[in-house]
Amino acid sequence: MYLQRHIVPLLDQHAFKEAQRKFELVSGFLDIEAHAGPEIELPSEQTTDPFDELMQEARVLDSASRTNNISTQYPDVAASMEENEVHQECAESQARISVNKTPFEMHKGMQDGRIFYYGVEKNWWSRSGTPKNMPVGEPGGPDSEIFWDLGKNLKRHEKSKWKNHPCHPNCGCGRFLEIGNNVFMEYIKTKRGFEKLRQKNVDYGGGLERQAEATANVSDIFLTDAFAGTIKKIEELSKKKYAENKKFFQIIADHLRAATFLISDGAYPSNKDQGYFTRRLIRRAIRSAYKLGVKENYCRKIAEVNINYFQKTYPDLAKKRNVIMTEMEKEENRFRKTLEKGLKKFEQLASKDKNITGEEAFNLYQTYGFPLEITKELAYEKNIPVDEKGFQNEFKKHQKLSRMASAGKFKGGLADTKEKTTQLHTVTHLMLAGLRKVLGEEVHQRGANITDKRIRFDFSYNKKMTEEQKKAVEDFVNEALRAHVSVTMEEMTLKEARKAGAEGEFSYKYGEKVKVYTIGYPETSSGLAPFSREICGGPHIKNTKEIKGIFKIKKEQSSSAGIRRIKAVVE
Ligand SMILES: [Zn+2]
Ligand SMILES: [Zn+2]
Repeated sequence: MYLQRHIVPLLDQHAFKEAQRKFELVSGFLDIEAHAGPEIELPSEQTTDPFDELMQEARVLDSASRTNNISTQYPDVAASMEENEVHQECAESQARISVNKTPFEMHKGMQDGRIFYYGVEKNWWSRSGTPKNMPVGEPGGPDSEIFWDLGKNLKRHEKSKWKNHPCHPNCGCGRFLEIGNNVFMEYIKTKRGFEKLRQKNVDYGGGLERQAEATANVSDIFLTDAFAGTIKKIEELSKKKYAENKKFFQIIADHLRAATFLISDGAYPSNKDQGYFTRRLIRRAIRSAYKLGVKENYCRKIAEVNINYFQKTYPDLAKKRNVIMTEMEKEENRFRKTLEKGLKKFEQLASKDKNITGEEAFNLYQTYGFPLEITKELAYEKNIPVDEKGFQNEFKKHQKLSRMASAGKFKGGLADTKEKTTQLHTVTHLMLAGLRKVLGEEVHQRGANITDKRIRFDFSYNKKMTEEQKKAVEDFVNEALRAHVSVTMEEMTLKEARKAGAEGEFSYKYGEKVKVYTIGYPETSSGLAPFSREICGGPHIKNTKEIKGIFKIKKEQSSSAGIRRIKAVVE
């Protein structure tokens, strides 16, 4: 891409002139910081570490070039430096030294102050940091970083902790946004010093959202299109303005987008592994919304905004819409049950002795489902400390106890045959619903034979299923298993059952009551369609979480004319 095309040639004088000419065509678009390339070409036979000297030089160059660049390119900032005349003079004398050592007049910045020189401490990349810290055998190289100037009007520098120092493109205040960088991997550290790699490469890394921010010319990524829908939705729900409540809006927007994708990838909210990341993100977003006065379930609504916005690029989101919404709702139901009580408990603990002990933090986690970062955030707002180490110790202690308990509890072995068969029977409900969803409404059950090991299932359909179709049915069933949804039974008349969309043979007598089994959420609280609804005699499990394992279709073949047969297992 063109950023690279124009920066790479800076490695030699001729190419630099060429780049300069090209740059005039695009000047005004980017602020580019020159890499430290020409400075680190060293004789390879050195007895002392050559980088001690180089780094000192770089530091001199660094401060000198900054000061001078600032006065040409950013007179507003330079003006504030005039008060410090000693610093200014000193920098100027250093700048003179640096002119002789650099191939270009870097102290002024190249391209009318659009390209800046920084030393190895800023513009060198290796896994270990600066050249001096690199072990023998490690590759590294200079880099160039590309910045976008958000402008002085935001007063980011004046509001930052660097306000008493001059501002410059690589300042930490945030006025200049690094939107990408190139690492020129061309050196390897050897016992004799640095040598050129035989295979060199340019490694470009860019921030997509930062580039969107620069392109849209807005002052933060939450004002770009990718977040606009979410921010608007939160404003609607909270009746508050983003501009006045940035922190909580940003937590919600960022965390719920991440959680939406995590769930879509199968990391459902839970207490362990990946699931706990999802849980923490959602819970922190719920607490942030609570701060904004949103006391009703809302995560699903934000997830929907994200699904609608990203589904074209990530079609999986549309396919998993149901499970994403369900998981969000479920997690929010769980946490809202304890949130208010937990907050009250926290208030008590905080006012008691102005700190939160490890045990107290663990109690908030254990009893009220507060992830540590929520406790930390609450404590931070009150300016009181949390004993994090104590929390971790309590956590480990508890883990050990529960491991021992579950080892004892499961000594009896696997669920017995009858239980297994009941589980697999319940799975056939899900499988039939999946088949009807994937292949069409014309699919009906034509027979079944279930043992504690496998399902054999016949259904009406007249073509061989494709691999994709089988996979889609498996995914549907596995989603339902992982969603930990309840299996509920309701007695109703056949007419009512039909109206409720129940699948089943309707060869019952008119007026007769039938049992309808629903696998999914109660519609009243979630508004979501169930995974399955079927007329059946039972027995069934109570919740899909009782089934441990993954549903798999082992075989799909013809049984007789217009009838297919599936053999499937949960393993
Ligand atoms: Zn600054
Ligand atoms: Zn059944």
